[in-house]
Parts: sequence; C-alpha cells; structure tokens
Amino acid sequence: MQFTDLKTQYGALKTSIDARIQRVLDHGQYIMGPEVRELEEALENYTGARHCITVASGTEALLIALMALELQPGDEVVTTPFTFAATAETIVLAGARPVFVDVEPDTCNIDVRLIGAAITPRTRAIMPVSLYGQVADLDEINAIAARHGLAVIEDAAQSFGALYKGRRSCALSTFGATSFFPSKPLGCYGDGGALFTDDERLARAAREIRVHGQSARYQHTRLGVGGRMDTLQCAVVLAKLERFDWELERRAAIGARYRARLEGLEQVTVRPDRNSVYAQYTVMVDDRETVQAALKAAGVPTAVHYPKPLHLQPAYAAYAADAAGRSPPGCPVSSRLAARVLSLPMSADLGAADQDRVVAALRTAVAAGAR
Ligand SMILES: *Cc1c(COP(=O)(O)O)cnc(C)c1O
Repeated sequence: MQFTDLKTQYGALKTSIDARIQRVLDHGQYIMGPEVRELEEALENYTGARHCITVASGTEALLIALMALELQPGDEVVTTPFTFAATAETIVLAGARPVFVDVEPDTCNIDVRLIGAAITPRTRAIMPVSLYGQVADLDEINAIAARHGLAVIEDAAQSFGALYKGRRSCALSTFGATSFFPSKPLGCYGDGGALFTDDERLARAAREIRVHGQSARYQHTRLGVGGRMDTLQCAVVLAKLERFDWELERRAAIGARYRARLEGLEQVTVRPDRNSVYAQYTVMVDDRETVQAALKAAGVPTAVHYPKPLHLQPAYAAYAADAAGRSPPGCPVSSRLAARVLSLPMSADLGAADQDRVVAALRTAVAAGAR
C-alpha cells in the first residue's frame, strides 16, 4: 500500500499524459509554451478567479503574492504556525514579519477569534492556510481584513478544488496560492504552482515578478524572480484535469468512509458549509510514535503534518514574540496538535480493502495503547 498512489493514476491517464508530453517535445517551446496559457485559462474557469498565473511552485506562488503587495521592512503578516514552513518562510523572504496566531483544535485551521488581537498598525496581510484540504473561515477573515484595509492570501497549497459556501478555494480572497507538487490533490511531475486573483493590477504585478520583474523584454520595472512553471509540467496538469472531478468525488467518498469507520477516534472536523479535498486524512492520537510504529509493522504507511509548529522552530524563534518584544503569547493548540496528528493513506485510487486494513490496524494500535 502506498501513502499516495500516483502509479495507478498514471496508468489511468497514461494515453493523455504521454500525448500531452509528446506534443511539448514536438513543438519544443519548453518555457512559456502554449500549454502555460491553456492551463491558466482552464484553472480560471475551474476556480472562477479572473486571473491565474502559473508559477514554479507553491512556495513561489506565496512569495510572488507577497512581493506584489510591496511589503516594507517591519510590516507584519498574520498566519498560523501549524503549517508547512513555506508559509512563514515566504513572509520573511518578502521582508516582513510573520505573526503567529493559534489554530482551532478540531479543524486545525487558523482560529479567527484570535486574529483581532494580533493586528497592529504594521499589519499588511492575513495568510490563512487551508490545511489538509479544507478552507479556513474565509468570510470572517475577509471581513476582518476589510475593516483594517489588509490583503488576504489563502495558502491553498493543499486545497485546490475545495468548496467553501459554494465557491472554490483559490478564488476567495485577494490572492489564492496553490501547489502542484506531485502529492497534492492536483499534482504535476515535479514542481509547479499557481496564483489566483481578481485584481487586474495585482495580476499584472505577479506576471511581471514571475519573469524577473519585466514589463517588457529587458525592461525590469520592479524586482522579480525566476518563477515560471515549465511547459511540460503545465501539460501534465492539463492531462490530470481530465479526471480531476472524478478524483474529488473519490476523495470525498473515501474520506466519508474513513470518518464512519473511525467513529470514536478523534479526527479532523470538516465544517458543514464547506468540504475537504483531503490532501491528507488526519486523525489525532495519543502516544503517536507507538501508533505509527504499529501501523508501519502492519504495512500501513503514515505521515505527520507537521511534527513541530513553526513558532518552535529555530529559524522562526525570532518571531515567536511580537514586534514590541512582548512575551510570546504561544500557540498551545498548535503545539498539542503537532504531538498528536497522524495522516493516513489517501488517494483517489485507494481501494476499499486497503482502506479497511488501515482502519483495522489503526483501531488495533490505539486499543493497544489505551490498555
Ligand atoms: C506544499 C505546501 C506549500 C509549498 O508548495 P511547494 O509547491 O512544495 O513549494 C506551501 N504551503 C503548504 C501548506 C503546503 O502544504
């Protein structure tokens, strides 16, 4: 059993993927070839966002969004520490300070009730993370941002395709930033990502930043990066879009099956007004190391997203306190979750028999721990 089954997916899509890749090899436009704009149009239609800008990775999408906002040294961006490092890393790289706000214990997404207290005159943006594939409370976050004149960047690296009150992740705020890392819900065969916005001016800025800040060839209007997505990777995503809706249905069904069969165990909650695309299906257990070892012995691969919250990581220790140097408020919920979360095998092609093996092994391991 694989944690993420990309082989079966390739088998199902082989004809389309191979043909799409061959077409790129035939036309030879490896950088900014026709597939780049074709994918951007397909993703604009899919999400409902006015502009899609494909970029080199999810990390690059976050960085370019922050650069487009023209942050100044000392500016602050509110985010959560219970996420992949790229979220906070890009804030620092863009010249700002991450301000960590704790998460909800059941959804693991940012706790909107704590955002107000984290906002200062230096705050420029809020960067919620749609963790495990479920959008955070974006309506409330957008309302707070509107009151304070802030931008909102959704870190949607794990949530492409997710629905929030009938609208798609990535099209819910100033910017949506997603990743096509192979194991994400919509993945390519290397690194890739995309940025979404409805704002014409920000879209133009992001397109320029993606190519070294050029507004025309060798006209460097602003500071930029080498942030393009390869034509070949765009071709792979275009092929994968063919059965993406089917995959989301499968993920929803597999998620519902996990939820029912794991009843009585603590699991990440999905709010009724939205869904999860289950980038991860995550449960919370005590004595995780023992449970994980027992599952491994039973042939069930698992993963931990993430074992240490960013406010406790050496690279971000300087940001654990606020800018005024006041004692760190701490993020106790994130710290506790980091010790207990465990992600189970999940992909559109996970079969019922394998899923039953996961459930049985997990129940046995948890019962053994409780004894
Ligand atoms: C994967 C991920 C990223 C980074 O995406 P890459 O394409 O690997 O650069 C950023 N944020 C979160 C929450 C992620 O899961």
